[in-house]
Amino acid sequence: MKMYKDMNHEELVSLHDDLCKQYEQVKAKGLKLNMARGKPDVNQLLLSTDILDVINSHYDFGSQYEYCNYGILDGIDEAKEFFAKMLNTSSQNVIVYGNSSLTIMFDQISRGYTHGYLGEKPWCQLDKVKFLCPVPGYDRHFAITEHFGIEMINIPMNENGPDMDLIEKYVETDESIKGIWCVPQYSNPTGITYSDEVVERFAHLNPAAKDFRIFWDNAYLVHHLYNDKQEHVKNLIKACQEAGQPNLVFEFCSTSKVTLPGSGVAALATSLENKEDILKHMSIQCIGYDKLNQLRHVEYFNKIESIDTHMQKQASLLKPKFEAVLNIFERELEPLGIAEWTKPLGGYFISFMAMENCAKAIVQKCKEAGTLLTTAGATYPYGQDPHDANIRIAPSFPKLEELKQATELFVLCVKLISVEKLLE
Ligand code: PLP
Repeated sequence: MKMYKDMNHEELVSLHDDLCKQYEQVKAKGLKLNMARGKPDVNQLLLSTDILDVINSHYDFGSQYEYCNYGILDGIDEAKEFFAKMLNTSSQNVIVYGNSSLTIMFDQISRGYTHGYLGEKPWCQLDKVKFLCPVPGYDRHFAITEHFGIEMINIPMNENGPDMDLIEKYVETDESIKGIWCVPQYSNPTGITYSDEVVERFAHLNPAAKDFRIFWDNAYLVHHLYNDKQEHVKNLIKACQEAGQPNLVFEFCSTSKVTLPGSGVAALATSLENKEDILKHMSIQCIGYDKLNQLRHVEYFNKIESIDTHMQKQASLLKPKFEAVLNIFERELEPLGIAEWTKPLGGYFISFMAMENCAKAIVQKCKEAGTLLTTAGATYPYGQDPHDANIRIAPSFPKLEELKQATELFVLCVKLISVEKLLE
């Protein structure tokens, strides 16, 4: 196979004819596939349905009957301990909420906006509020900051995490920068885990704004694909404590992609001072979250199945899907020099970089032949990828055979659009 860039005009035209024919054949099959969102498939969900039986009307509540009532705003002790262990911090630093970490993130931004952190001016009273956004990143983070009219600034990612020189420059000189979105382990969508040096530089930031916070969304902290090749991001809460700036970080996580998304439990970990401030606001918002679901998760993972065992079962379902996609990419695209992609060791996504100005056209071409991908540009603030090159591949949801079909169609569309670009 020849690299596309080494082909002459005639070769490209003939290749284009051939690829168009192949595309029409696939289109005629009338596929209906979806690789758009990183949802677990039904077999992954079935791994966790036993959790529903752990607490029932025969459960011996003993002294825990208060868990069936209002109250216990920051979560039951057992759940705080469970998350503290998971996040390698102290249970004193943890608040356990309801079913979604994204809701906690929204609330934290909302509180900064309406009331301010630790007595600082609410952001709604400022002329300008800005957030740093490592890119490509998680579209729902960007949607929250956009919703509050916060200006977002792209920060490029490299293999160690976001560009720290740029972050230090912005954070240390511009008081209107109030936060940064980070997915530090098996990042969405690049799969990158931030290096120890990056974490230390975060902990030693010297922000111009007193109310600058690092939004550390550790959504994929137990989501390893390979037992023998695990990445673990360094503990930022501890690093911030040691650097004498404990208030700098809000860390988020949930059991969404561990058990049942939408019916899991979410938590936040932060300094004691931040926690007290948050609880003041929370006490107006809520009388107490779903403590029975918290208990259900604790009982399940502490008494019935360890989280490691459970995540290995998840990995055994996910790994063949990641490998199927990566094998097709390697076989079909590697020799052609028209794309690059990540090979993650965990998380839910593969980040695909097409040639410049091709991503939108590839996604559209796939859609016309019956396969939905994440919208091109979604991985950037305002849905605008300045290079129109990044596509987030989410292998988890389709069945393996369907995933292979969708990936074959995807690589065909990548080839077709790349040839068209070269012929322009
Ligand atoms: N954070 C990241 C990075 C995610 O990828 C996702 C879901 O895909 C979430 C948060 C959502 O988490 P939750 O279900 O706890 O709201």
